[in-house]
Amino acid sequence: MATIAFIGLGNMGNPMAANLVKAGHHVIGFDLVAKNREIAEANGIEISHNGAAALADTKTIVTMLAKGSQVVEVYGELAPMAQAGSLFIDCSTIDVASSRSAHAMAEDYGHFSVDAPVNGNVETAREGTLTVMVGGEDQAVSMAHPYLTKLGASIIHCGGPGAGQAAKICNNLILGISMIGVSEAFVLAGHLGLSAEALFEVASASSGQCWSLTHHCPVPGPVPASPANHDYKAVFASNLMFKDLKLAQETALELGAVTPLAAQAAQLFALHNRAGNGARDFSSIIELFSRKNS
Ligand code: NAD
Repeated sequence: MATIAFIGLGNMGNPMAANLVKAGHHVIGFDLVAKNREIAEANGIEISHNGAAALADTKTIVTMLAKGSQVVEVYGELAPMAQAGSLFIDCSTIDVASSRSAHAMAEDYGHFSVDAPVNGNVETAREGTLTVMVGGEDQAVSMAHPYLTKLGASIIHCGGPGAGQAAKICNNLILGISMIGVSEAFVLAGHLGLSAEALFEVASASSGQCWSLTHHCPVPGPVPASPANHDYKAVFASNLMFKDLKLAQETALELGAVTPLAAQAAQLFALHNRAGNGARDFSSIIELFSRKNS
């Protein structure tokens, strides 16, 4: 079993690092937030004093950070001091340009690297059933595979460096737009006197079927486990949805890709979050359309 450095022990990083411990690995972790370090310690993760100290005995480094700038900063610090031939695995969801910069930094110092953002949530991170979208050269992906299988149930090699991030951004563009479509349909159904149950029964067995409908159904009732039945307690928070749509928009603008519905979806989630809903599940966006005075 290996020793693994794990940087970024937040909502997702903590349960992911815990799964590596459960798989028998020795995990040395670091997070800037003291509370997260305490939770990690209780999960069997050895805590280091800083990111650099976590590298002492390992050639495998996993990062799970919030933003591209954080990933670039951490790679800038750790790549020069890691043992030659180390493997860097970045599971954060970040922009493709930052991801490719991180890959380039690792390569400059003779390391292997993959971007491996995940689809799922804190619960699936805990269960080890995330979907992991991997970008990187074949050798690096093969080296990362045994670790990624401890984090996710589905590991998909999407292409070269940055391809995992590209896949994640495109997938979540679909998710954001489809949630708005599903929400609009339920609101219209309400105006027509069609019950939510009837619409769900038809759409879930017809061409309107999608993840937003069947897993995050935005109205209470048809899907008992959906956040709508639990006061929109976040399974996937609205501010994370906005983050991913913003990444898609920045990329689309940079590349000249035409994505008008994603642009509109980003604006609607921004509006919803500004009204204080960022920490609620993204399916709560339906309230933007269903208030009596709207
Ligand atoms: P989070 O903010 O809870 O965790 C990020 C952690 O990184 C924080 O605890 C922060 O203190 C730490 N950090 C930042 N800079 C650091 C540094 N230099 N050294 C050490 N630690 C540092 O975020 P999260 O919810 O765990 O999400 C992590 C990533 O996964 C994000 O990119 C997010 O978009 C993505 N993601 C989240 C979810 C989800 O449901 N939460 C689902 C899929 C993907």
